[in-house]
Amino acid sequence: MKPKIRKATRHVNQNEGLIFEKSSPGKAAWKLPPLDVPQVDTAKLLGKAERKDLGNMPEVSEIEIIRHFTRLSTWNYAIDLGMYPLGSCTMKYNPRVNEAVARVEGIANGHPYQPEKISQGALQIMKTLSECLIEITGMDAITLQPAAGAHGEMTGLLMVRAYHQSKGNPRKKVLIPDSAHGTNPATAAMVNYAVENLKSDARGMVDLASLKQQMNEDVAALMLTNPNTLGVFEQQIHEIADILHAKGGLLYMDGANMNALVGKVRPGDFGVDVMHLNLHKTFSTPHGGGGPGSGPVAVKKGLEPFLPAPVVVAKPDGTLGFEYNRPHSVGRVRSFYGNFGMFVRALAYIQANGPDGLRETTEDAVLNANYIRKGLEGTYDLPYSTPSMHEVVFSDKLQARKGVRTMDIAKRLIDYGFHPYTTAFPLIVPGALMIEPTESESKEEMDLFIEAMKSIAEEVEEDPQTVLDAPHSTRVSRLDETAAARKPVLRWKPAN
Ligand SMILES: *Cc1c(COP(=O)(O)O)cnc(C)c1O
Repeated sequence: MKPKIRKATRHVNQNEGLIFEKSSPGKAAWKLPPLDVPQVDTAKLLGKAERKDLGNMPEVSEIEIIRHFTRLSTWNYAIDLGMYPLGSCTMKYNPRVNEAVARVEGIANGHPYQPEKISQGALQIMKTLSECLIEITGMDAITLQPAAGAHGEMTGLLMVRAYHQSKGNPRKKVLIPDSAHGTNPATAAMVNYAVENLKSDARGMVDLASLKQQMNEDVAALMLTNPNTLGVFEQQIHEIADILHAKGGLLYMDGANMNALVGKVRPGDFGVDVMHLNLHKTFSTPHGGGGPGSGPVAVKKGLEPFLPAPVVVAKPDGTLGFEYNRPHSVGRVRSFYGNFGMFVRALAYIQANGPDGLRETTEDAVLNANYIRKGLEGTYDLPYSTPSMHEVVFSDKLQARKGVRTMDIAKRLIDYGFHPYTTAFPLIVPGALMIEPTESESKEEMDLFIEAMKSIAEEVEEDPQTVLDAPHSTRVSRLDETAAARKPVLRWKPAN
């Protein structure tokens, strides 16, 4: 019997013809009542700026425009439609309670130019979130300013440099394992550090012998993604920290994968000096379409003087305020105070879950990744047998014999109603399939996913061309992905 397949085609009508050009002369989506106030002389008021015709604006009725945008919204995939197993990106469900809190009037309408006196609630939100994140990470101080994970990395490395500079030598190199996230070497290069690659051992962890050999007084820091992009926890993290510290180096932890650790272990307790968090991953704030994100950076005491200004402090009169006078600060890294709306959502998530809930969330994220690992082991090649944390990385080795690669399998998954997993990353696994279900998914949804992946593996054996030509159910099929990234068409323009 063929497995149950949930088709992505349910929203797509292939026979719709010209779907974008809906304009017809004279139609409008609004109708205003007659004026009951004196008419203003707009020509006098606007002068040359007054527009006499509609220009190239499309002319459509209200229902047409509503249907147009509603239809467009259904051609996209969303976490609100189904599982979004994009490894490393932690596409967890954004609980609606976060949104309800973010829409509370005083919060939603707050303005960064408001005086501190009437911003006490907003300041309290920032202070409480900071305290929660410090508690969760085991660090000593934090900045909420950075707008994304990679931005947090940059902020962290600027602080690393300022720290070494204060000791008389900024140092030149940053060590980065081959299992790190791609943003790590990019960030280090951007802030002008020389990047030195550190190799992994057969278990997918940092090779201690190589680290010892490469560590010297010219190394400013090791940037370690933990768990790394293989979904593997660095079991020798204490030794790693000791090797660095013995030569005066710092341990930077890319904490974007903290959803595997929250409530279980604290980076501050295993030797980390500076780290970033991704609120838009671990703490469920939305991150579709490139943002807005939030990448707070937490540090140990020794790095606190270098935090970006301003920081939230309690003033002598008991109110909260911003402290700008920080002589050793690396400066401001973001306008105002960061993406405040994300702070509200992250704090709502943390408080709604509480300590036990957060711990359970971590356990469920790891349980779900391992459920999928067990379900697909044998069907897909598993290059590292080390236990998985929050994500599992397979390779396309078995399917490659039929000429089908990870990208083809991912494209076929779209026909089964799922968002693709992450393809061809991490780079140390040739043809990687990186799958992160997150704790949001039920057993039923994961069973459907496993069935879909198994069904695709069967297709690869019996009819590889179907997989190679996928997706078959979408409005457009295979795109030129380079052109889509380099020359994106992001808005409608008049045809003429
Ligand atoms: C997502 C991610 C980043 C980058 O975060 P952005 O918010 O996309 O800049 C860095 N490291 C790891 C491990 C990640 O998963």
